[in-house]
Amino acid sequence: MQVAVDNFRRSYFPGVPDGDWRDWRWQLRNRLAAPEDFERVLGLTDDEREAFRRGPRLPVGVTPYYAALVAGSGSRAALRRTILPSTAEWVIRTGEVEDPLGEREHEAVPGLIHTYPDRVLVFVSGQCGTYCRYCTRGRMVGRPGSELGSERWAAILEYIREQSGVREVILSGGDPLVLSSGRLERLLNDLRAIGHVEVIRVSTRMPVVLPQRVTDELVEVLGRHQPLWLSLHCVHPDELTVEVGQACERLVRAGIPLLAQMVLLAGVNDGADIIKRLVHGLVKMRVHPYYLHQCDQMAGTGHFRTPLQRSVEIMGSLYGHTSGYCVPLLMIDPPGGGGKVPLAADYLEGREGEDWLVRDYLGRTRRYRENVEG
Ligand SMILES: *Cc1c(COP(=O)(O)O)cnc(C)c1O
Repeated sequence: MQVAVDNFRRSYFPGVPDGDWRDWRWQLRNRLAAPEDFERVLGLTDDEREAFRRGPRLPVGVTPYYAALVAGSGSRAALRRTILPSTAEWVIRTGEVEDPLGEREHEAVPGLIHTYPDRVLVFVSGQCGTYCRYCTRGRMVGRPGSELGSERWAAILEYIREQSGVREVILSGGDPLVLSSGRLERLLNDLRAIGHVEVIRVSTRMPVVLPQRVTDELVEVLGRHQPLWLSLHCVHPDELTVEVGQACERLVRAGIPLLAQMVLLAGVNDGADIIKRLVHGLVKMRVHPYYLHQCDQMAGTGHFRTPLQRSVEIMGSLYGHTSGYCVPLLMIDPPGGGGKVPLAADYLEGREGEDWLVRDYLGRTRRYRENVEG
């Protein structure tokens, strides 16, 4: 794959010095966004061309690094499905809405969602390194008004200061790592000045779509605000390149625990073997697979959604069959907001007399007798 990626770079970005290619700002400046850009480097199908002609429903933007990966990947079709618009985005199915998590109603102050008692989620950026076609926040990312201004930040800080029960602050967006390291440093300093904020969490796709973003400077900034956990978003084992491995290595060395959040996507990763390769690859990079999300019911994403039954089956092929370190929780976020729900295959079958009946990973019913009082 590395050879294919190098060839891609030579063919489509000739004369770009290594220094530029490795510079995350160069990558962002040179994102592919217009149909001509994609026509040149990946070619477009008739359907993709038609989607561009209609004007895509969600923002389009792909770093040259990630485009090279799509071009060089053996499962090209899978990765390109996640970044290129298709006319299926105009098919709105029953139950699909623009704000599937009802976040607009849960915004305690603009840019802050307070759903759970002890943690809040903050949109610190409206931009992403690369835009996903299944984005649950398509209503706001890449659109005017989604940026964090100083007044909005001041109001967010004031809210968190008043809410002494908030132990965790999740930086999300958009992608928080699109912000400059200096800007991030100021945000993190402001949060660390609040005594009851115990843990800071960063949710990002940048280490995967633009691993060049994980510079020494960024790692130092993040490392100075411990305890800080980073959760990266990835969907396919072909995304786990040498560069991504090196980015994770730098983060781990700075003492930053790494988790992964994945989305189960039809035609991309909805097979037990692919998910297994993905979680194995993550654990090798010292990233714990945390959540596997059922694709939210965002308008125009029906072509990505797997039947729940199938999602549960995929989970059943992981638990026990591979290391527990490699097994994420399958989560759904029912419409309207109110929080995520884990979906586990039912390992608890019931009671018979004094025995609990439980199901093991091979589907055998096993007995467990409790020898405790009461
Ligand atoms: C997902 C989410 C969180 C974090 O939930 P965890 O289960 O702790 O990962 C917090 N706030 C909101 C609004 C969320 O959607």
